[in-house]
Amino acid sequence: MTETATQTYPATRAYRTHVARVRRLSEHFVRITFADEDLQHFGTGGLDQRIKLMIPRADGTLPDVGLFEEPAPPMMQWYTRWRELPDEERNAMRTYTVRAVRPEAGEIDVDFALHGADGPASAWAMGAGVGNEMVIIGPDERSETGGRGRSGGIEWNPGEATTLLLAGDETAAPAICAILESLDERYTGHVFIEVPSADDILPLQTRAAVQLNWLARGEREHGEMLTKAIQAWGREHGAEVAGGTQNGSIAYVVRSDEESGDGAEAPLWEVPPESPHGHWYAWLAGEAGTITGLRRYLVKGLGIDKKCVSFMGYWKMGRAEGS
Ligand SMILES: Cc1cc2nc3c(=O)[nH]c(=O)nc-3n(C[C@H](O)[C@H](O)[C@H](O)COP(=O)(O)OP(=O)(O)OC[C@H]3O[C@@H](n4cnc5c(N)ncnc54)[C@H](O)[C@@H]3O)c2cc1C
Repeated sequence: MTETATQTYPATRAYRTHVARVRRLSEHFVRITFADEDLQHFGTGGLDQRIKLMIPRADGTLPDVGLFEEPAPPMMQWYTRWRELPDEERNAMRTYTVRAVRPEAGEIDVDFALHGADGPASAWAMGAGVGNEMVIIGPDERSETGGRGRSGGIEWNPGEATTLLLAGDETAAPAICAILESLDERYTGHVFIEVPSADDILPLQTRAAVQLNWLARGEREHGEMLTKAIQAWGREHGAEVAGGTQNGSIAYVVRSDEESGDGAEAPLWEVPPESPHGHWYAWLAGEAGTITGLRRYLVKGLGIDKKCVSFMGYWKMGRAEGS
């Protein structure tokens, strides 16, 4: 369809891409570069921008849910069709972070944490080769609600705060790295990233004056090191931070085990709808059980105002995404 002045674009839409490069970063990380001319329209401010990947079925095909109808359909339209497909026809759809975007080259990078072949996304990434196709759902810079400023799917929201706490596991490492690369020297604070092994400590450039701590898990339980590190941080800084944040009553974007209401245990997702007003902000993402425990510790244990913290359960141990 030819573009006209009246054409409108949904905030997110589907991009047909192919694998241009595969780079093994470490024992558990692989960076996949997706390319297509159409990605020149991919709109994002970077940071923790999330996207959806339509993982092909075992025979390499995807069901037709109208993703490429013109004009591009709003998300609820194709998503409803996708949800209603019989189990055996529905492909897996998984959430990832855009690690880097180069619209001028029509490319985006995604860093996959490899956790074995039991997950369709991890299995796909382990076997990915140049030329493999991937449909990516992401923002369109021509959309009135998208764009390269602040598109949907970005939760990083520090407002005026320049003292930070960033924490997450390997699935949050791509977002944390992209966020850190965007910060200048005004920012201070602490960063904790738990990764499976010492080999997974990735090179990272930031101008921010933060203390960066990579935690190599080894044989320990998932989340144990991250939890202990945040507790140690809390003993040193918790009282001061709690004293400087104030309780207030504002509406939250909350999706939690207790409040999903449909009997399904949705991972915790609690992000303040407004930027914090103070000088301190925290962003925590990773395995839902770990993040739920850290929320309890920071909010109930230390008394930190939750309106200064974004908590995101990115995945849940023992449960496939969306199940
Ligand atoms: C906003 C957002 C951004 C994300 N960004 C990234 C990203 O950039 N890179 C990235 O690697 N992941 C990212 N994730 C996490 C990713 O979506 C999940 O790990 C997802 O479950 C992987 O899908 P899968 O098909 O491999 O496994 P699934 O089919 O969903 O799960 C299969 C099994 O594997 C387990 N499992 C899932 N993930 C892991 C893991 N990492 N380690 C150990 N066991 C696991 C599940 O508990 C389940 O038992 C993000 C998630 C969200 C919500």
